[in-house]
Amino acid sequence: MTVDVMMFISNAFWNGFAKYLIQVLFLVSLVKTLEPYGHEFWPSELPSAVQVMLFILIKDFFRYWLHRALHENAFLWRFHATHHSVKRLYWLNGIRSHPVEVIVQAILFAAPFALLQPSAEIVMVAVFMQLSIGLFQHSNIDLTPEFWEYLFSIGDNHRYHHYPDKKIGDCNYGGEFIVWDILFGTFHKVKGERPSDNIGIGGSPHYPMTLTGLLIAPFLKNQRFDESVSPDRD
Ligand SMILES: [Zn+2]
Ligand SMILES: [Zn+2]
Repeated sequence: MTVDVMMFISNAFWNGFAKYLIQVLFLVSLVKTLEPYGHEFWPSELPSAVQVMLFILIKDFFRYWLHRALHENAFLWRFHATHHSVKRLYWLNGIRSHPVEVIVQAILFAAPFALLQPSAEIVMVAVFMQLSIGLFQHSNIDLTPEFWEYLFSIGDNHRYHHYPDKKIGDCNYGGEFIVWDILFGTFHKVKGERPSDNIGIGGSPHYPMTLTGLLIAPFLKNQRFDESVSPDRD
């Protein structure tokens, strides 16, 4: 748990760094150019609850494609492996991400966030909802929220996503909603089956577990990232 608390603090720092990087990359001027259009297009006349859902759904569309690329591209997978290094899911380790992923995501979100521009209240409620779903997604409670698993990326959906075998684990990429997976054919759920508790990185059963180890692992040549070997249970 200590490493996840440290990861949380470290990621807050890298998020701040990403904002600085966005300025350096002149994305701020792009954001400023896009801003007025956002106010024009955002459907602020819709009920607040619909606006919150819409905001999360659009944000999740970008998260879906980034997450999918992080799995399907061998180089990007090296960095996303940090998230998959966990050997059991519990509420806090959903935030375990490599700083490179945190920075790439912040840059990718800069333009759509500038375009969306809903009111601060809508963003606040949406962020709160995202955090709640995120905690629920990694929580170590044995729930089978059947119906909700066809709407949200929670429960068994995310356990399948953490499978050590990438043939199964490359699925259910949704950050909050699972609808993009259903639409783009990456949804995995077997009716009547419960996923195994055996999770992790198949090719690297002894992936580093310290903060420093997690930060440098993607750059190590001898680190295996393929998923052909079942992990040890330790
Ligand atoms: Zn993943
Ligand atoms: Zn996860």
